[in-house]
Amino acid sequence: MRMKIIDENKIGGILERTKNPPKELIIDILKKAQGMNGLSLKETGYLLNLNDSKLLPSLFLTASKIKNEIYGERLVFFAPLYVSDFCINDCQYCNFHIRNKELKRKKLVLEEVEEQTKFLINTGHKRLLLEFGEDPIINNIDYAVSVIEKIYSIKTEKGNIRRLNVNIAATTIEDYRKLKEAKIGTYQLFQETYHRKTYEKLHKGPKANYDRQISAHIKAFKAGLDDLGIGVLFGLYDWRFEVLALISHAEYLDKEYNVGPHTISVPRFCAAPTVTYQPEYPVSDADFLKIVAILRLAVPYTGMIISTREKPQIRKIAFQIGISQASASSVTSVGGYGKNRHQPQFIICDDRTLKEVIDTALDDKLLPSFCTACYRKGRTGETFMGLSKPGQIHKFCRPNGILTFVEYLEDFAKDGIYKKGYDIINFYLNKIDDEGLRKQTRERLIKIKQGQRDLYF
Ligand code: SAM
Ligand code: SF4
Repeated sequence: MRMKIIDENKIGGILERTKNPPKELIIDILKKAQGMNGLSLKETGYLLNLNDSKLLPSLFLTASKIKNEIYGERLVFFAPLYVSDFCINDCQYCNFHIRNKELKRKKLVLEEVEEQTKFLINTGHKRLLLEFGEDPIINNIDYAVSVIEKIYSIKTEKGNIRRLNVNIAATTIEDYRKLKEAKIGTYQLFQETYHRKTYEKLHKGPKANYDRQISAHIKAFKAGLDDLGIGVLFGLYDWRFEVLALISHAEYLDKEYNVGPHTISVPRFCAAPTVTYQPEYPVSDADFLKIVAILRLAVPYTGMIISTREKPQIRKIAFQIGISQASASSVTSVGGYGKNRHQPQFIICDDRTLKEVIDTALDDKLLPSFCTACYRKGRTGETFMGLSKPGQIHKFCRPNGILTFVEYLEDFAKDGIYKKGYDIINFYLNKIDDEGLRKQTRERLIKIKQGQRDLYF
């Protein structure tokens, strides 16, 4: 069925009509955005067409205020875990494309899943994003479920993985139900480009079906998965169009199913070993940061994810103006943690360790967090939105961020950033407004120092 979630003519018309916005109008829109109720497509169009560089600091300042108001100072960390690079698609931008005969394909067996997971647990991670190529036989859903069950079953002295988000090809309601039963966190799938013609041009194989890709979240929702992640691979088509399309997709899910996306990811195309494709619409660093800020204003209640596709300098600014989750210490090849594996999916631009990323985040007064409380407390989908839309989620993020970061410092950082980390913890502990909650957080913090783990609100 031809899905009508994205109205390309309408988006094109808005982008045309919002060209050269006057300064006063931009100021009004920024003022309205501070109400944290989001922006219309037209208002967003004016911001996307903003070329007056003198107004950019105001845009960034507004975005940073909204980020702090809704998500607070915390920055949640995770790592991707590439499980299988077997793939039957030919996506022009990806090194796992079926034409790649140089790639010695690999699918982790459960012992390797355990080894890779332990490696990540030993660096401090508690949340992973599982990545699979599309192969309905080799990477079938039962295999995916066995990997998920394996990872959740691994308990070590240094902790365990508490939330698994999954990035697997669009599939059936029945398959999504199996992922739901396996207790995944967010189901994440990117549209890559919302522009139908470009999408069809860049893909071959089952993924080339635009409608299958764009209706995947609806099927996942029907199967009971209500934390859904959407995204665009920036560089494939005009970023202004893509931002309005992303917002249209978010609005559609919110209107039809009462649940907007839990997260929006903003990957930018990166070079990859056998990929000759050159992005037709490359996004500059300045425009990339504009995208992050504008999305923060337009869909304030949605978490925003940045990956190690971006350089440290860009991530640093993006953390301030809208990003709430970031990957760190990532490897983009199957079985590549702790081992030299050839041919990643693409080449990353931030190869710092988790500890190094945390160190600079602390310099910027961010609170590193490994929190997994919401989904384990049942705060998902509509319940989560009910808290995040009025800015209430913050109440939980700060104490939970503090407690998970105390665990990190005690288990992984005694030799390094320990003192710096506790300075930040004490700073934000004193900022918990509710006296009772502040007291409870302090008590739990002491218990963690004494050896207890996994305490959350
Ligand atoms: N195979 C599934 C799919 O395509 O939806 C799962 C995810 S794939 C491993 C993860 C994502 O990597 C893709 O959705 C795509 O946006 C991104 N990606 C692929 N090639 C890339 C490249 N050269 N640079 C940056 N991101 C890339
Ligand atoms: Fe396969 Fe996904 Fe890469 Fe496309 S993006 S070739 S579907 S792994």
